Amino acid sequence: MAVPFLDLKRQYQTISSEIEPKLVQVAQSQRYVLGPEVDAFEKEIAAYLGVKHAVGVASGTDALILSLKALGVGHNDEVITCDYSFFSSAGVIRWVGARPVFVDVAKHSFNIDPAAIAKKITKKTKAILVVHLFGEPAEMDPVKKLAAKHGLPIIEDACQAIGAEYQGVKIGGLTESACYSFYPTKVLGCFGDGGLLATNSDQVYHAVQDLRVHGAKGSDDRATIGTNSRLDELQAAVLRIKLRKLEAWIAARRHCAAKYRELLAGLPVQTPQDKPHLGHTYNSFVITSEKRDALMAQLRSKEIGCAIYYSRPFHLMTAFKKFVKPQEKFPRSLIASKSALALPIFPELHDHEIETVAEAIKQFYG
Ligand SMILES: *Cc1c(COP(=O)(O)O)cnc(C)c1O
Repeated sequence: MAVPFLDLKRQYQTISSEIEPKLVQVAQSQRYVLGPEVDAFEKEIAAYLGVKHAVGVASGTDALILSLKALGVGHNDEVITCDYSFFSSAGVIRWVGARPVFVDVAKHSFNIDPAAIAKKITKKTKAILVVHLFGEPAEMDPVKKLAAKHGLPIIEDACQAIGAEYQGVKIGGLTESACYSFYPTKVLGCFGDGGLLATNSDQVYHAVQDLRVHGAKGSDDRATIGTNSRLDELQAAVLRIKLRKLEAWIAARRHCAAKYRELLAGLPVQTPQDKPHLGHTYNSFVITSEKRDALMAQLRSKEIGCAIYYSRPFHLMTAFKKFVKPQEKFPRSLIASKSALALPIFPELHDHEIETVAEAIKQFYG
């Protein structure tokens, strides 16, 4: 039996009766950009995340870029980030003209190794960009301690980790800026592109509010260059409805993860473990296997959806190679890129489908 990697239609069926009248209402209002839906959504999600401010922007990538800009990061600055993530996490650093400096992942994790950051700090370091990959928060305490010691701001790429918790508290307000994506495949997805930046800093908040509308709202003279990066009313209307379901959807993802762990126990694959202080939301359920490519081929031959996140660490990408010194080594991210395999996970995935996936993996190992 085929198992889809992701089936967004199942979720839509559960909310269409709430969403469709709302879309018509926005259309009839003819308010499309920065109106009452965006205002209300920003307040509601700030309350959900437990932060002072939330600013809707056009994508997760833009949230990261505008955060870097708001913190004054630019040419000749260095920004430290993890060697293993979606392209955007490092691409945004180059996009603002800064140099990415890569750090290997931690043991038993796909997130940055806090112990390896200190060696990479130089006079040019301007910020640390931490990614919470696959929905699991990175170890923030040691990173925060180090950042405070060096007076460095931290930006969180929380694009895959909305609702995740660190030591029992939702991430979002831990640092200068946490960035979220509402791309349709994320845990909280809209009907296109959308993003958000959460912050407790009044300075970052005001700066990003201006940056998303060309520098400043409603003035003829401009001191800074901004861009056009806004969340629109239709997306905000969809997100307001979906936000109310988010906790239930995260709980369903955790159920799927627990089921996978139970069924895959004893096989020669590593499953993501539940760590009590890290409230993983399972944006992705990524196992590792030494026979990853053969396993993937077999699952796909049985029409079981799976994907590689990510096959190439940043230090090996053409765009970034020139920023890596020959003596820099990243053994753990290299192993991750060769062994990681994402299995189907979404709130509407059925137990019997998880059993099908687990059975196919068992068969593979004979
Ligand atoms: C999705 C994602 C982004 C970018 O978000 P977009 O909304 O697609 O621009 C950035 N970082 C990570 C880790 C992501 O998963």
